[in-house]
Amino acid sequence: MPGKQPETGPTEAPEDGAADSLGSLTAEELQQGQEAALALEDRMALSAQTLVRAEVEQLYQEVRPLGQGRFGRVVLVTHRKKGTSLALKQLPKTSTSLRGFLYEFCVGLSLGTHPAIVAAYGIGIESANSYSFLTEPVLHGDLITFIQPKVGLPQPAAQRCTEQLTSALEHIHDRGLVYRDLKPENVLVCDPACQRIKLADFGHTRPRGTLLRLTGPPIPYTAPELCASPLLPEGLPIQPALDAWALGVLVFCLLTGYFPWDQPLEDTDPFYEDFLVWRASGQAQDRPQPWFGLTPAADTLLCGLLDPHPRRRSPVGAIQGFLGRPWRQDGEASGLAVEAGEGGR
Ligand code: ADP
Ligand code: MG
Repeated sequence: MPGKQPETGPTEAPEDGAADSLGSLTAEELQQGQEAALALEDRMALSAQTLVRAEVEQLYQEVRPLGQGRFGRVVLVTHRKKGTSLALKQLPKTSTSLRGFLYEFCVGLSLGTHPAIVAAYGIGIESANSYSFLTEPVLHGDLITFIQPKVGLPQPAAQRCTEQLTSALEHIHDRGLVYRDLKPENVLVCDPACQRIKLADFGHTRPRGTLLRLTGPPIPYTAPELCASPLLPEGLPIQPALDAWALGVLVFCLLTGYFPWDQPLEDTDPFYEDFLVWRASGQAQDRPQPWFGLTPAADTLLCGLLDPHPRRRSPVGAIQGFLGRPWRQDGEASGLAVEAGEGGR
């Protein structure tokens, strides 16, 4: 997500009206977030003591770059003695603190047992100018290269990806965490037919209830309550509903090859405004052009995930009830002369 987001740990549930309308926490949710935060702090303290202090090239041979994100460079490496292939994510110390590194490393370790989450090896390295950790290499690129602009993915692949992502997000939410960075660049593809995917990049994952504010411009995946967070000066207590919104946007991209809007800002983004009008009226004549070609099942699914109110928004698990039903009236979607929104890339 763009912009730095100042944060503090899980907090008391705020009681004022603004907080409530943005989705404040129940006592149970608050406790779940606090437990996740404590477990992570323990793991981070242990990992800090076991960091390998070495230059990466002493231990690993670089084979080729795998990707570059906003924060890290990921390279395919082989272990110099054993020859094992691994993905190494390197985070420069100029932009990543020890605490930030340990957070991402330990969240990845705690989640990496799920089949749709990239497996992490418990090796963290501190070099003179960077921190690094190792994960399994996933060699068919990320999902962005599979989404054909103005078309999306073939429907079976779109449903398979969605099912696996939903399972990964439920696994994260069940552990009291919110992923917060769902977008195709963080979804790695395991095979050329896009049968299996794995979620990566836990640099933004935080315990439920962590207070966050958005300080950079929102992107399509940013939930509207985060855009409204200036209403809460201390920040928004984050919830799994943030991921449900991002999943809704991602499913829309997979089905159409378009973003539904640039930013979920009423009065600023005409595509978002059109969506709100259609959502409220339910009338066929109000359907925004980028939404042509979707089936009634897809409409219901997406309108549930893309509910602007976080407390009314469907949880990610709602997807289960829609799998195996048609989401796109195939043959029509690719033929539309849609002017709206930007493509999947
Ligand atoms: P950032 O935190 O900077 O966004 P990411 O962890 O998302 O960094 O990694 C950047 C890019 O590297 C990803 O978008 C993806 O293309 C690639 N990548 C990351 N992890 C792996 C991996 N385990 N195997 C293959 N490619 C990867
Ligand atoms: Mg990333």
